[in-house]
Amino acid sequence: MKELQKHIIVGITGGIGSGKTTISKYFEGFGIPVYYADLEAKALMNRSKVIKRKLIALFGDDAYINNTLNRDYLRSQIFKEKKLLSKMNAIVHPKVGAHYKRWAKKQNAPYILKEVAIIFENNLQSQYDYIITVIADKEERVKRVMQRDNSSRDSVKAIIRNQFSDQEKIKKSDFVIENNDLEAAKLQAQIIHNNLISNI
Ligand code: ATP
Repeated sequence: MKELQKHIIVGITGGIGSGKTTISKYFEGFGIPVYYADLEAKALMNRSKVIKRKLIALFGDDAYINNTLNRDYLRSQIFKEKKLLSKMNAIVHPKVGAHYKRWAKKQNAPYILKEVAIIFENNLQSQYDYIITVIADKEERVKRVMQRDNSSRDSVKAIIRNQFSDQEKIKKSDFVIENNDLEAAKLQAQIIHNNLISNI
């Protein structure tokens, strides 16, 4: 019988624009497999016929344009009717969870890293053996996201207001990476990686 492998699961989180994805790439460079949960969720929303059918039932035909998820439309509908967010999550999250489990089974590494924007806000910390929170100065984060997404200052600030503060996240985390300067952040990632592999 094939032995079931129990992975050490490390979550990496942080507010919008903190640099979760950027830092996760460093861990990939150290040979650690990374699951990008938000990216996979977006991909599944375009790929999965079941999700597509359910989202159209929830939001109407405008949910997709030419088979591609109409994110702006969904965002505007959720803004008007907040309950739609939890209904959408109830459709998408189980599929992402199943996809992640299949992915995790195939990995062979001292630990796996899961990049997720929201862990503490949804009280999901028990799913992880360790949690790393990436932080950066708020004004720096606002500037980064405005530049990356071509979005307005107000819209980035509204997202930040909806997320837990860095202080709240730090209290609940095992490790913190301060990402104001990339080189310093990479060094912190390397130290955490060394720490994790020597403790496993
Ligand atoms: P989101 O929650 O929006 O997905 P994130 O936390 O994953 O964001 P990244 O996408 O890694 O953040 O970074 C946001 C932007 O800031 C990217 O364009 C990235 O290249 C840039 N960035 C990340 N870290 C730094 C840094 N230390 N200095 C300058 N720019 C940075």
